[in-house]
Amino acid sequence: MQIINPATEELIAHLDEDNSTQIQTKFEKARQAQKSWAQFTLTDRIEVLRKFYELLAEYKQSLGEILTREMGKPLAQAYNEINGARGRIEFFLENSANYLNPETVWKEPGLEEKIAYESLGVIANISAWNYPYLVGVNVFVPGLIAGNAVLYKPSEFTTLTGLEIGKLLHQAGVPEEVFQVIIGGKEAGETLLSLPLDGYFFTGSYKTGKYIYEKVASKMVPCQLELGGKDPVYVLDSNENIPGIARGIADGAFYNNGQSCCSVERIYVHEKVYEDFVNAFTEEVKSYKIGNPEETGVYVGPLTRKEQISVLENQVQDALDKGAQLLTGGKALDRKGYYFAPTVLVNVNASMLVMREESFGPIIGIQKVSSDEEALALMQDTEYGLTTGVYTQDTARAEKLLAQLDSGSAYWNCCDRVSPRLPWSGRRHSGLGATLSHLGIRAFTKPKGYHLRNS
Ligand code: NAD
Repeated sequence: MQIINPATEELIAHLDEDNSTQIQTKFEKARQAQKSWAQFTLTDRIEVLRKFYELLAEYKQSLGEILTREMGKPLAQAYNEINGARGRIEFFLENSANYLNPETVWKEPGLEEKIAYESLGVIANISAWNYPYLVGVNVFVPGLIAGNAVLYKPSEFTTLTGLEIGKLLHQAGVPEEVFQVIIGGKEAGETLLSLPLDGYFFTGSYKTGKYIYEKVASKMVPCQLELGGKDPVYVLDSNENIPGIARGIADGAFYNNGQSCCSVERIYVHEKVYEDFVNAFTEEVKSYKIGNPEETGVYVGPLTRKEQISVLENQVQDALDKGAQLLTGGKALDRKGYYFAPTVLVNVNASMLVMREESFGPIIGIQKVSSDEEALALMQDTEYGLTTGVYTQDTARAEKLLAQLDSGSAYWNCCDRVSPRLPWSGRRHSGLGATLSHLGIRAFTKPKGYHLRNS
């Protein structure tokens, strides 16, 4: 496997992929080791993960550099990601005992009823590259705390980061067989699907997620899917600070080069504030510093995957062919590396790919609307259901809209935000099940109901 720096197109590492025999051996070792890991007390497992939390801070600089070199996000954003991952781990450290210790739910003379949360066993964590720390810790931290062994397959675009995560977990005290990194891409993932694992936790595209769900269905084990989105926001006329809102939404669309599952991917703006919004938004996007992600101050680096350039070019051409207007960007940059100019399109409509298919890049369409009803209908016109947001000072209008939107997360005057205290879940093509929050602690367990009569 060749690891290429997307900013320079230079080869930075060469790794051997795991073949199916090696993955089978890793699985057998994990199966054995999981039994004793589950025998650790919950407190001891939490303390091991606390050490991992500390090590992430200690090695933050080198971890950030590795991440930037292999997937291209600006260094400051790589450090932010590690800080964010630590915030999520802190949540798990503080709350896991509360949700995993057995609970007595009924007691009467001669009878006790109790729920215990048992580990699933050996689970697969098949992960994405865009936020390897964030989407990884959502799964392997609560997974390990709950007493599972984890076969962790980082994306082939962030394998070096995956290997660093493995090293630090082992240094923290997770036994080597309990957390094992599987090196490889699609084929390695396929081998995991063929093994008798006790749960599949996937982050990635709808296409692969659907395939995995169908493939493992007959195993009758949990399969959670965190998939893509085409996340809309709507800016209402009842707003005072349109330039401030425009800058915030631009960040939600272009942070991490738009390669976030919850990036803003569609913008609807009420006609009364449309012009002000578009002007401020475009000015902000034009001000972004583009360049080598290792340079200070760079906000837009290269895309991680070369193939995405033609996807974006195709979306731009399709939009222009159907009558859209390009305000800035629209093409790949004429330099080494996988750079695409931040792109703003207006006069867009729902027939255009840029308003229908996940772009996963630095490109956005802004559409004018004349009523809340029109905005609602357009926002709902999608197979995805990850996040939706509205910007307004009018609480009643916000509440009415958010209650009707069919998505796992609802944002009021914010966007592109994840909180460890809230469930992270997608609906329909955006996924199945939830990570984070108390739901994401118990997701890695199976409940046992004890009916205890002592006479
Ligand atoms: P992807 O589907 O291409 O790959 C994801 C993982 O699946 C990788 O590790 C890959 O090697 C593996 N894989 C590919 N084919 C497989 C197969 N046949 N069997 C088993 N494993 C296989 O997705 P990606 O490009 O890595 O990630 C981008 C996508 O992930 C976007 O759609 C994004 O929105 C989504 N995403 C969602 C969330 C969320 O929380 N909802 C978070 C991050 C990313």
